[in-house]
Amino acid sequence: MADSSNGTARKIVKTTRGFATSDGAGVSLHRLLGTPEIADLDPFLMLDEFRSDKADDYIAGFPNHPHRGFETVTYMLAGRMRHGDNQGNSGLLTAGSVQWMTAGRGIVHSEMPEQEDGLLWGFQLWINLPSTQKMTAPRYQDIPPERIPTVERPDGTRITVIAGAVDGVAGPVDAEQTEPLFFDITLPAGRSFNHALPERHAAFLYVIEGALTVGDSQVQAGTLAVLSQGPRLALAAGEAGPARFILLAGKPIGEPVAKYGPFVMNTEAEIRQAINDFRAGRL
Ligand code: MN
Repeated sequence: MADSSNGTARKIVKTTRGFATSDGAGVSLHRLLGTPEIADLDPFLMLDEFRSDKADDYIAGFPNHPHRGFETVTYMLAGRMRHGDNQGNSGLLTAGSVQWMTAGRGIVHSEMPEQEDGLLWGFQLWINLPSTQKMTAPRYQDIPPERIPTVERPDGTRITVIAGAVDGVAGPVDAEQTEPLFFDITLPAGRSFNHALPERHAAFLYVIEGALTVGDSQVQAGTLAVLSQGPRLALAAGEAGPARFILLAGKPIGEPVAKYGPFVMNTEAEIRQAINDFRAGRL
């Protein structure tokens, strides 16, 4: 059972199942954050899930496109994505890997599926940067699966730690601006998970498989749940079977957000500058 007796545990304040859309050159995906329902959740700007075993849904990929002013986080669960940019960086994102890209003042890159058939599955999350860091030098943290620890508890719970820490095990990501937590958790049926969170961090979870109980609420697979503020999280897997979910938390930035496609700045003037810089080849 989830511990709902203590009033300080975070509650679900909103849920969404997102909507099907496409982006890039025609990649079918499911947008969960950065939608009319949940426009943003400071510092989180967008969350997409791409998951298909039909090549037509993903093969066109995301050819060259720019970013400025925030970070993109790609978590691959199946398949392979080739990454390359206009500054000579390239890499292959394999299943279980994470790419944490700080776009900073700007890059132009491509993200292209390398495989021609089979399942391609992953998430891309956009996290904002504070004004002091929006024009920083671009930076990549390409993290292979073997550098991402998984905590295995005696009760069968498995916690893959991408960012933040649990049971004394810290994830490999360095992102001091928003102090993020990013876990991929599998709970056996009926098992609970309790975790302290910084009280004011924004937090959400997305259920991949099974169902979760958070306080008085049930969250089914395919649903994203935004959590209230508070010092701790208490939840449990449903009794019918195991539950798998991703849990994200991050420190709000609290600044104005001016957003235009792949540019996220503080003011409209900065957006116009970003567009001009991109057109002039300055990214
Ligand atoms: Mn991109």
